[in-house]
Amino acid sequence: MTNPRIPSFRPNVGASELDAVRAVFESRWLGMGPMAHRFETLLAQRLDARHVIAVDRGTSALHLALDVLDLLPGDEVIVPSLTFAASVQAILAARATPVFCEVEPESLTMNIDDALSRITPRTRAVMPVHYAGLACDMAPLLTECRRRNIVVVEDAAHAFGSSYRGRPIGSFGDLTCFSFDAIKNITCGEGGAVATGRDDWAQKLRLRRNIGIDSERWRSASQSRPWHYQVVSHGYRYHMSDINAAIGIAQLERMEQFRQRKCEVVRRYDQALADLPGIVPVRRDLDQTFPFAYVVRVTGGQRDALHQHLRAAGIDTMVQFIPNHLQPAFAQFRRPLPVTEQLYGEVLSLPLFTEMTDEEVERVIGQVRSFFAADRAAESVASASIAAEQG
Ligand SMILES: *Cc1c(COP(=O)(O)O)cnc(C)c1O
Repeated sequence: MTNPRIPSFRPNVGASELDAVRAVFESRWLGMGPMAHRFETLLAQRLDARHVIAVDRGTSALHLALDVLDLLPGDEVIVPSLTFAASVQAILAARATPVFCEVEPESLTMNIDDALSRITPRTRAVMPVHYAGLACDMAPLLTECRRRNIVVVEDAAHAFGSSYRGRPIGSFGDLTCFSFDAIKNITCGEGGAVATGRDDWAQKLRLRRNIGIDSERWRSASQSRPWHYQVVSHGYRYHMSDINAAIGIAQLERMEQFRQRKCEVVRRYDQALADLPGIVPVRRDLDQTFPFAYVVRVTGGQRDALHQHLRAAGIDTMVQFIPNHLQPAFAQFRRPLPVTEQLYGEVLSLPLFTEMTDEEVERVIGQVRSFFAADRAAESVASASIAAEQG
């Protein structure tokens, strides 16, 4: 009998999410309405954010956050190449030019000095990515950018629930963008949000989220002219439905359990893999971080072989991410990024999800260890035969 496959990620959804969706069905209000607004209120409380605007996905959150800056063609946005392609597509959707920068090998988060060195007179925004849930070093970044009138738009798709120096991601930046897609720290099925402290941006975000209409239908429905609306700016159809919001509200209630289980798995992995010479651990800061993924660096050109070995053993892994400057669609923005290119050959995300059993965790650990044990055995056979030849 073979063991069932272990996926690299898996959403934890069940009875409470189904109940929440059922209640929305019974209300017969499926679009953006009371649930979406309640979700925004709960997010704002949890993030300690002045404004939270819920949207249909994280990519929309990023696009909308850049859109309110009213960028002009030729304006530049600095972004690490090692991120999901959605970050870059959002920059292009806002008509700006992505300028790719390096990440730190120790944390895989944006290299702040490298990012700042790429500032030009056309730079309007910097988009740090809180890779795998770990906050990048926001204090020097915000200080430098505020001094130069550059906006920091955080891609916090991985980092809902994480903190930086004790403050929630989303409570202190300019515009912070979250994703609640199927595999993120909490899910709405699909969903996203932008957090900001600025009233003028919040107002623009709300307008442009829904076709530039000045009030939402669920509110105008109670007025004397329920059909009346005014379009006051350009806009998109990025609002969140009550179905998705209800799932998100149910997930928020379970979020602390999710965090605890993921932290337990991460600690166990760290402890069990620490002595393997072929694996370089990545900084995790678990006291501040809601871990999204468990990423290791596999050195010695062994990453692909480890991936194959695990795959054959029924264990899925991922590579996060293919650097964007190497993607054909972004070729015109390409520049050499040697650190990122090196890391691309090394990173591997081991399975991490909240319903992972201890047995599954141990199976992954056992297979990773057996890969390196076999590898060392092969090496010592090879060196023994070389010694025999020479002897
Ligand atoms: C998931 C993700 C996004 C996009 O979020 P969606 O909700 O899937 O649109 C953006 N950036 C990063 C780094 C992501 O992982």
